[in-house]
Amino acid sequence: MNQFEKDSSNLITLAENICQWCISFQKTLPERRVAITDNPSPPKQPLEENGLGSEAAFLDFVQNISGNLSASAGPRYLGLVTGGTTPAAMLADWITSATDQNVCLPGDSIATAVEVQALSWLRQLFQINETFQGTLTSGATAANILGTLCGRQFAGEQQGIDIAADGLQGVEIEVFSASPHASTLKALSLVGLGRKQLIQVPCLPDSEAMDVTALAVLLKKSRCRGKIVIASAGTVTGTDFDDIEAIAELTQTHNAWLHVDGAFGLFSRLLPEQRSLTNGINLADSITTDGHKWLNVSYDCGIFFTRHPELLSDVCGVTASYLDVDSHLPSYINMGIENSRRFRALPVWMTLKAYGRSGYTELVKNNCEQAKALAEWLSQSKDYELLCPCKLNVVVFKPKSLHNIDINNVLTRINDSGQVYVTPGKWQGEGAIRAAFCNWQTTMEDVGIVCSTLNNIFETTETNGN
Ligand SMILES: *Cc1c(COP(=O)(O)O)cnc(C)c1O
Repeated sequence: MNQFEKDSSNLITLAENICQWCISFQKTLPERRVAITDNPSPPKQPLEENGLGSEAAFLDFVQNISGNLSASAGPRYLGLVTGGTTPAAMLADWITSATDQNVCLPGDSIATAVEVQALSWLRQLFQINETFQGTLTSGATAANILGTLCGRQFAGEQQGIDIAADGLQGVEIEVFSASPHASTLKALSLVGLGRKQLIQVPCLPDSEAMDVTALAVLLKKSRCRGKIVIASAGTVTGTDFDDIEAIAELTQTHNAWLHVDGAFGLFSRLLPEQRSLTNGINLADSITTDGHKWLNVSYDCGIFFTRHPELLSDVCGVTASYLDVDSHLPSYINMGIENSRRFRALPVWMTLKAYGRSGYTELVKNNCEQAKALAEWLSQSKDYELLCPCKLNVVVFKPKSLHNIDINNVLTRINDSGQVYVTPGKWQGEGAIRAAFCNWQTTMEDVGIVCSTLNNIFETTETNGN
């Protein structure tokens, strides 16, 4: 028997062991060190000449790797905007790996139909019109790239040029945005429009939201024949929302493409009292949101919607004789960056089936309440200053200047505590610490632990005499 066959014959025992380990990892997330901050390097081992088999490989993983994993799926990882994985999503992701479907073309499996269904449920969850079609992506970055590509194709059409076919020569395109996410700048680089070519629209005072009057002036002044506006539905620091309805009116008047990045902010649509933040969302030409953030499915999963699926297939279409299938279902190969792609839809399908609209509404509501509680504590604190009001799930703060202590030093100490993980940010040009709540496991008790960790930073500083 070779090693593949040996593993295969021992699969149940192996799978049971690994399943046990995974469950215990999940269950102990609240007690684990939240982040491994000393940059572990991989154990130096040469490539195995003759494989050891999965049992020995798993043992090696347990001994040399597992202890240095973060608890980013756990309740107090507040860095970036990081989702956990719901039980249903985690289990479905195992099935995705085990069944190993390639969702590139319909015609050989139900997998494409499941993605169609999952996207339809997502439209219902977000109250997005059925006229939008979409695709699951590897993340919001990939979805922003697709939005930029569709906008670019649209802008070309306005000038009688099919960019997908003929390239960018002779095309004029201007891109406008106020507080684009870093991934939007990456998208501009990737699609050949150039990061530095972005036309910066001013923000409203004390906000990261677009000054729409300023956009109106810029669009009116522009002589460019192709225009794309990239709006934010939830900026990563201030969680500010551009006025999509007002922007859409302008993009219609000026024949511009409107892409909305709602990577996590789109989930505010689950809360009736927040829904007006995204008024006009159905007027967007394309929309980004994330699965691995507030939907809490395992990495990686993003979501892209557009009202112009024909433009998406102009850009992403692949032609080859072996790709001709006769089906009423979409060929996702023609709707995204990848040709071959995993059965990413199953975790989305299963988690929505398992928890439904009310489960997700509660998740989003709880995280927002937790963020508010932390913000409230900070605003009363003698050591910290809340830098902007908490509007959704992100809290922005810094140590009070009386401590005369470098913000990065405080950030490092917070993260080295192993109790909580936060990441740096900028608010109105000033250094800040961000804490983003985005996990189904987080409770008010966790907020308490975060507060006492923050408290301890200055207790220890004072006893140390610095
Ligand atoms: C996280 C985020 C992105 C990038 O998302 P990935 O899933 O990491 O690719 C884009 N835009 C916004 C607003 C985000 O919060």
